[in-house]
Amino acid sequence: MSSPKVYIGGKLYEKADAKISVFDHGLLYGDGVFEGIRSYSGRVFRLEQHVQRLYDSAKAIHLVVPMSQADMAKAILDTLKANNLRDAYIRLILTRGAGSLGLDPRKTTDPQVIIITDSISLYPAELYEHGLKIVTAGTMRNHPAALNPRVKSLNYLNSILAKIEGTNAGCLEALMLNHKGEVAECTGDNIFLVRRGELHTPSIDAGILEGITRDAVIEIARGMGITVVERAMDRHDVYTADECFLTGTAAEVIPVVECDARPIGSGKPGPMTKELLTRFHALVRGE
Ligand code: PMP
Repeated sequence: MSSPKVYIGGKLYEKADAKISVFDHGLLYGDGVFEGIRSYSGRVFRLEQHVQRLYDSAKAIHLVVPMSQADMAKAILDTLKANNLRDAYIRLILTRGAGSLGLDPRKTTDPQVIIITDSISLYPAELYEHGLKIVTAGTMRNHPAALNPRVKSLNYLNSILAKIEGTNAGCLEALMLNHKGEVAECTGDNIFLVRRGELHTPSIDAGILEGITRDAVIEIARGMGITVVERAMDRHDVYTADECFLTGTAAEVIPVVECDARPIGSGKPGPMTKELLTRFHALVRGE
């Protein structure tokens, strides 16, 4: 197989030659934003929405993207094509660019646009069959007034610290609470609960990333006539839910069967979770 090609600033480089400056503020300070995107059978799922979210994240951190949204979308498609990938995970990165050893973004030049495409590495199939166990992390989600989780920034330490707590406890995902002690999201996934036939999920103002998979699942559920409620929730809601699942670009829709050693519902993936996963699969392949 030929070596992967990485897009940097309008050109494609062999993996070994795909390099940016060590003075880039993306590396020095986590000063930049990114997206995780997926393509299914050559079709990129919700490309425009991902590109829009990247531009929104960039705007929030006062970073001007050096190309139009249409050119960005085209660059993603061209990179996929150059790599001959149909089912792929796409990492779109925008850094502040190289500058001096100081925080001041005015001392940087040339924001870097990087597109890495890779084959998708899925969670083991048995997790979809039997469900995930999660624990609540002690690390709280970033306070929205400090660094709003709606910004998908290159500084993911908040999630990484919680993820370490999860893996130390033998769990692949960890639940994060916000500064009010409410359920926010997991380290790289949004959370949903099923309660008496309704679907409940924390609202955006809980301080979460507005997940694109989350949006898609809400649309699917409403299309099925299910009531979807976006609201503040606490861990009691999770412990006493009938079903629980997580959503994310990589995870798609994954059942959660235990939280903090309490089985959720029957302790097995529930019927609404399974149905939404099936319909999500149909959507990503059909859209
Ligand atoms: N929350 C966080 C913190 C994330 O990093 C992600 C993306 N991995 C999600 C939620 C899910 O978002 P999306 O469905 O857009 O991938």
